[in-house]
Amino acid sequence: LFCASLRSDESLDTMSSFIGGNSVNSPLYTSIEEYEKVQSDIHSIARHKLTVQRLLGKGAFGEVYYGLLADVAHSEVPTPVAVKTLPTLCSDQTKLDFFMEAVMLSKLKHPNIVKFIGISIEGSSILLVTELMDGGDLRSYLRCLRTKLNDIATKELILLCIDVATGCQYLEEHGCIHRDLATRNCLLSEKGSRTIVKVGDFGMSRLTGRTNYYRKKGTALVPVKWMSPEAFIDGVFTSKTDVWSYGVLLWEVFSLGHVPYPGKSNEEVMQFVKHGGRLPKPEICTEKIYQLMTNCWADDSRLRPNFTTIKEKLTSIEQCDNNSTSNPYLSVPC
Ligand code: ADP
Repeated sequence: LFCASLRSDESLDTMSSFIGGNSVNSPLYTSIEEYEKVQSDIHSIARHKLTVQRLLGKGAFGEVYYGLLADVAHSEVPTPVAVKTLPTLCSDQTKLDFFMEAVMLSKLKHPNIVKFIGISIEGSSILLVTELMDGGDLRSYLRCLRTKLNDIATKELILLCIDVATGCQYLEEHGCIHRDLATRNCLLSEKGSRTIVKVGDFGMSRLTGRTNYYRKKGTALVPVKWMSPEAFIDGVFTSKTDVWSYGVLLWEVFSLGHVPYPGKSNEEVMQFVKHGGRLPKPEICTEKIYQLMTNCWADDSRLRPNFTTIKEKLTSIEQCDNNSTSNPYLSVPC
């Protein structure tokens, strides 16, 4: 739906040893020591402890199921979890992305990042187990809000965006580039009266190492409509390319889950953005929030805010809204 293929020359020969757990000379890691350290940290789940039940959702490649995991922290009651599967027949790149997601998630611990539980390998079948996010994905949630237009408060939408920015700030500080930030990849859980958003789907994420950038060399399907010019032109990814995608995510939130650049093909979007074209202000978005979006889409990546600044700006906009005496609800036509 949102993907296009870019030029390729990345070797994927190492994938079979990746899955088998042997030592790997992976082009995706900054050092073999780092890869080996990470791999030994991944929690492995015995398959008999896992019961896979109903389908929760289909991704671009695999499927995600509701599952029950026995014996967590010696509890007698099994823990509900999400189980991500891969189709039996899939490309090496897909397998690699899947495994990278496990590797990456196992390193990340933050309240706004989907929690990794473990990986279960049996023969050629590999399952990725994460915490269950009972509210589904952010895009579907936003689309449901369209039926309740008069009840939507700017504040609530901003709080969702602050959650994502908080998760992204943690990624930025830990040298992790997500590369696929979009509402479809953020998941919701209900905590008391508050809906918490967490960043998920780390299949495309990479560690930057000391250089702070990741240069993409491989063939892969890439989310063009969420990508900055330097990412789709030169294949260079930094935390500031994530900032661009975050700007598009803000646009998705305030357009209540619309697909960006409607009616435009990926090629047309690349031409449009390269020549300075940008997404228009969504109807229910304030000037200040649109200003923040456009800052995220600065041509020069150095001029884009980092996630700390984004979070600060959103927090101050949200507090300003709190203090305002005007109606906190957005007046949008039904
Ligand atoms: P892919 O990486 O192949 O695109 P996703 O990770 O996006 O797959 O998952 C596809 C769908 O499965 C999501 O849109 C969501 O509805 C559901 N899903 C994914 N992870 C979870 C989770 N941890 N808890 C609940 N539902 C999930």
